[in-house]
Order: sequence, then structure tokens, then C-alpha cells
Amino acid sequence: MFIPFALPELGEEEIEEVAEALRSGWVTTGPKTKQFETSFSEYIGDGVQTIAVNSATAGLHLALEAIGIGEGDEVITTTHTFTATAEVVRYLGADVKLVDIDPVTMNIDPEAIRKVITPKTKAIMPVHYAGLSCDMDTIFDIADEFGLKIVEDAAHALPTTYKEKLIGSLRSDVTVFSFYANKTMTTGEGGMIVTKSQLLADRMRVMRLHGINRDAFDRFRSEKPAWYYEVVAPGFKYNLTDIASAMGIHQLKRLPKFLKRRQYLAKRYFDALTDLPLILPAKAPEGDIHSWHLYVLRLKENAPMGRDELIQFLADRKIGTSVHYVPLHRHPYWRDRYNLTAEMFPQSDKAYQAMLSIPLYTAMSDEQQDRVISALREALL
Ligand SMILES: *Cc1c(COP(=O)(O)O)cnc(C)c1O
Repeated sequence: MFIPFALPELGEEEIEEVAEALRSGWVTTGPKTKQFETSFSEYIGDGVQTIAVNSATAGLHLALEAIGIGEGDEVITTTHTFTATAEVVRYLGADVKLVDIDPVTMNIDPEAIRKVITPKTKAIMPVHYAGLSCDMDTIFDIADEFGLKIVEDAAHALPTTYKEKLIGSLRSDVTVFSFYANKTMTTGEGGMIVTKSQLLADRMRVMRLHGINRDAFDRFRSEKPAWYYEVVAPGFKYNLTDIASAMGIHQLKRLPKFLKRRQYLAKRYFDALTDLPLILPAKAPEGDIHSWHLYVLRLKENAPMGRDELIQFLADRKIGTSVHYVPLHRHPYWRDRYNLTAEMFPQSDKAYQAMLSIPLYTAMSDEQQDRVISALREALL
């Protein structure tokens, strides 16, 4: 009866592969993780390096560490994101420069990036909001002009394309995907780091597991005693288990089907909601892929009820919703650390006050979606 906001779709193949991992006795990082990394690299193409981690947050942390972010540095990202994007900058003692969004795409506004660059700026972290690619050419131009690194937060962007190339295969330094439970594919918790740089990949592999200087994961292959290792840095504990990778192997195979289903549901929402007092989400340019991780509505000023009231109206009809996001400038930690006010981010703040995300996931039936549509029409017509 209740339509949740999001739900993963895990099948018998995942269950069987997880059971096999359990039966095999190798439950931590091992052969299934290697297989998952290889499949993911083949999926993205261009011979990219892949490093499986236990969350996208871990991946973003490793990426910033590898490109050399540290105390005294500044990293630019959008205020309209999940706190994970920004918190990893603080892990390394560097500072975050938050900027406003483009009101149409809700992605980071490249012109706003330009305005906050200082001699301390080292990197830009674009977030492909809801699954729509950022304006990457403009961001690459800015990065080239000022000698900045780029780490893409692609937590929403699997699969998303920019100018017909998959996110993950562009010329950024590092791209990080998330396999959290509500993302477009899941391993329960997990993430994948993608890079074309051998140097960065080597550093991130070492730092993923305690700063150990050889691939300790290969122990599962070793017939001979393989007890000797050296610690070369105070690394982290960010490796992905084979139990999680077992899910990932099959989720990745399902991804084309998942995308088709999400595209189908998104189209149904567009068709059914156009005449309501709503700003519907921006679509990808012709020829490009929007992953449709999120379907975000914004109420127009002439709507008969406000956002909070609409969320309650839907909740009363047993329909789950969410808000992506309470922008970072509104959270006490970020607000107080950087003396941020809503006036500094007019587009993000205005969008936040009018927005809600409605259910869109592969396991959702047409009938369930019809219920969401009917409720919205009842509320807003
Ligand atoms: C989900 C998410 C993350 C964090 O992913 P985890 O795998 O949960 O660490 C980071 N950034 C954005 C934009 C996200 O939506």
C-alpha cells in the first residue's frame, strides 16, 4: 500500500552470488571485487582504472588525498549537494568554497566557480545533480585556465553521458560513483573510483587499505606464503568486501535495463504532469543520457499549496517523497564555519524551498506511479 520514495531491485542472481561468496570462505576483498572492478572498467571504457571502495564518500576522500589536497588549500563545489561532497575536503584540513547553481539544470554554475577562485584554489568538484551532467566543457576550460584539478562526484550519474561520452570517461582527474542503497545500482554500501591516471590509481590503491604498498588483495591468489608487506603511509580502511561486490557484478549487468525503466517512468511523469503548476526537471541535451536517479519537482508560485503541505498531502496518501537537498549553506556546520547566508546562494535557496523528489525507481510498478500522478493532480489542479 505504501509507496516508498526509493527501493533497490535485487534479484536471484545477486542472492546466489552473495551466497557463493559466503560459501567460498572469502568474504572480504578478493576475486569478486577484482571481477567487479574489471567489469566496471569495461563498462566505462577507454581503459580506465577502477578501484572499488566501501562508499563514494571514501572514494572522494581518496581522490582528494591523491591529487594532493591539504591544509591551506581550497576546493570549490556546489551548495546544492549532499554533505559528503564537501566533508571530505575538511577531512584533509582544506577549506570548501560553496557556490550557487544554474536555476535550469540545478548543477553548479560555472560562472560562479570563476568568481571564487583564489591562489589557494586547487580543485573543483562538480556534482551531476539528479543524473544530469554538469556543463563539463566550461568547467574544463576554467580548470585549464587556472591549473585546477577536477574530481567528479558522480554519485547520481550512472549511467550519464556528456556529449555522448559516459561520465567516468571524460578528462577529469578522478570520478567517483556511489552504490548506496537508493542509487541507480547498489551494493548496499559501496562506491567505485575511476581514473585514467596510473599515478593517482596507484596512490588510491595504497591508501584504500592502510597504506600498504603492494596489492594485499592479491593474497587470495597466492599459493606461496605472502606474509610480508610494507606500510608507506597512514592509509585508510576503505576496501569493498566480496559480499558487496557479488551484488555489484549483477547490478552492473542489469544497468541497461534499469536505465530503460527509469527513462520510461520519467517520460510518464513528464507526460502526466505538464499541465500542473510545476517546474519539471531539465532534460539531457539531444543524444545524451540522463540517469534519472532523481525526479525533482519545483512548485510554481501560483501552486495551490506549498512544498511542505504537498509533502504532507502525499504522505497522507501513503506516498514517500524526499528533498534533495537541504543545501549545505543551511546546515549549522557549513553555515557557521563559513558565515553563509541564503542570500549568497539565491538560486539554490529558491529551488530548495520549492522542491520535492517523487518516487522513481525500477521496482516501481506503472500502477504505483499512476497513484503518485493522481495524488499530484488532485493536490495541484
Ligand atoms: C549518495 C551521495 C554521496 C555519498 O555516497 P555514499 O556511497 O553513501 O558515500 C555523495 N554525493 C552525492 C551527491 C550523493 O548523492
